[in-house]
Amino acid sequence: MVLRKDVTNLWKHPAPEVWENMVRHRRHLHKHPEVGIDLPDTHLYVLQELEGMGFLPEFHLGAGISVVIPGTAREALPIIFRADMDALPIEEASGSNFRSVRQGAMHACGHDLHTAVLLGVAQDLIARPSARDVILVFQPGEESDRGAVKTLLHENLQIDDAEVFAIHVNAVLPSGTIALRYGTFMAAGDWFRLEIIGKGGHASAPELVGNPIRLGSLFVEGLHALAHELSTVNLRVVATTTEFLAGNAVNVIPTHGSLRGTLRTVSQSQQEELHSRMRELANKLGRDYELSASLSITKGYPPVVSDDAFMEQLIRIIIEQEFPSVQRLLAPSMVIEDFSYFLKRWPGAMVYIGAAVGDDPSFNHSAQAEFDEEAMKTGFALFRALAPGPN
Ligand SMILES: [Zn+2]
Ligand SMILES: [Zn+2]
Repeated sequence: MVLRKDVTNLWKHPAPEVWENMVRHRRHLHKHPEVGIDLPDTHLYVLQELEGMGFLPEFHLGAGISVVIPGTAREALPIIFRADMDALPIEEASGSNFRSVRQGAMHACGHDLHTAVLLGVAQDLIARPSARDVILVFQPGEESDRGAVKTLLHENLQIDDAEVFAIHVNAVLPSGTIALRYGTFMAAGDWFRLEIIGKGGHASAPELVGNPIRLGSLFVEGLHALAHELSTVNLRVVATTTEFLAGNAVNVIPTHGSLRGTLRTVSQSQQEELHSRMRELANKLGRDYELSASLSITKGYPPVVSDDAFMEQLIRIIIEQEFPSVQRLLAPSMVIEDFSYFLKRWPGAMVYIGAAVGDDPSFNHSAQAEFDEEAMKTGFALFRALAPGPN
């Protein structure tokens, strides 16, 4: 029993010099966030850190960095660990003393922690090699640029047999908690746009011309009702209108209006039903109000789906290694993630790592979002537990 505890501790805690570096990486990245697919400074930082450790990474600006760290057991199945590196176009309003120095950019989704943890894992693997080949991947453009798709073209990733794993920090779950789910972990995400065109006219005579604002309002309400109708207890449908543009005068009915928004679904049948009912709704409103109402739906990220056998391995490890706090999510998270493209190539999973700060935390993507650095230890321990040494 004592022996097992010792082994457990070996993998659980980063050595002090590794931890110091993880905190340094995290704070540097947090202070210097970059948004999108081209992250020149972040890219250079990660590259130099890896090269400084003696690695020879593969890199492509706009498609990230990868490095293969050979394992000690030839027959062991390789494992791919992925971190994302991009920030969000948000002005940081947190009170941290390493807050963003870049106007209009903030690591509000915690990708700075993901990158820092994986750099820590890289450093640790030098001192304590894994039995398995470990491929570390640092990708840009997660938030809406499908960065994963280009990153997956790396030569280092042209392998058939492997497993893949990633963490995502969660700003509202208690710090250090692991939250996971069999099957669908995160939703599929699509975007819509409704263009409404009419004749426009005098505000005193709406009966003569259809009003795009009226039609748009009915569409927003109809869509909301539709999402509610299609939701079940564990499989939610979310449809959120996020933009409504129309009109520029108090006494003129505009000729044009447009709406945009986000759709989130968990099952393919719900997704298909939502899209077709939205088209029916737009057509019906267009006919009723004698306006042109054209709806376009853009398919976004597929859902993040965990592999059952990998989940069993993961849960066994979590129990063996005595991680203190684990919860199974009853329902999928309605967040989306392009890690789904990795999970379409190899079996694996993504889990949340709680990183809440204080009693009233703000969720990821908030200008006030804060992430507890201590949570990086849980992420680190999970990665190392999945790539243990040769006993
Ligand atoms: Zn995000
Ligand atoms: Zn994210």
